[in-house]
Amino acid sequence: MDQCSGTSLQLCQRAWQALAVCVRAVACRIGPRQSRSYPPALRCRFTGALLVIVLGASALMSAPPSFAGKTEHANSTGIAEQRALLILRALWLPTRDDAKTLQQDLQVLAGYIAERPQALALLESVAGKALKIRYRKGEFRTKVSATNFRVHAATIYFDPRSAAHFSQQGCLENSATCQASPADTFLHELLHASAALLDSADFLRTVTPASAIYPHRHESEIIARERQLFTAMTAADSRPRPLRSSHAGKLVPARCVTCI
Ligand SMILES: [Zn+2]
Repeated sequence: MDQCSGTSLQLCQRAWQALAVCVRAVACRIGPRQSRSYPPALRCRFTGALLVIVLGASALMSAPPSFAGKTEHANSTGIAEQRALLILRALWLPTRDDAKTLQQDLQVLAGYIAERPQALALLESVAGKALKIRYRKGEFRTKVSATNFRVHAATIYFDPRSAAHFSQQGCLENSATCQASPADTFLHELLHASAALLDSADFLRTVTPASAIYPHRHESEIIARERQLFTAMTAADSRPRPLRSSHAGKLVPARCVTCI
């Protein structure tokens, strides 16, 4: 009993003793009278044990469902977080430039993604694909290695301590904010990687592999997908996210991977 600690320990012990006396008294009254061959003390103990089992079972069955629901939710979130962290670490390409806070940031990022089903589905969609993620201070970019006929691989350059501040003109009127946390900006890059690796034919129809910059049409499609993703995420967690129509903006230092 976690509650039986400190000053409440004696109270708890007395409560248990009082309960035991009550159970014993009731047990001795309703004990099986046909079992006269057993001594009265043994009959009381036997019936008392039965009472405790019945009372315990009914208490468990009448427990508020929310408790079981919360425990189940915590377990599934913990499993999802471990799964997200495993994927992020498998995709991560360590370099000597990795920030000291990187492992801590990856853990927080995994927890953030795990709690948002749409983000988790996006991350899981690129698990095991030809994708690498690597640290690059002050940069968010997805580089795709491809020929005119085939996408070979993608690399996301990511700074977990840089947030994106977009220009007001690029944000839609109903946007609650024009700033995106490093975590949400990372999701934007995941959308680029997902488009290149999972829908390669369409990607190659809109992107020239030799070009270092994505054409307007491709970027517009990714930003449209980002609006859908952010709208669904904000509907679930009420966190403000930018709803935008363009890429214009700048990166600014962030205190944490989920800060804006
Ligand atoms: Zn983009």
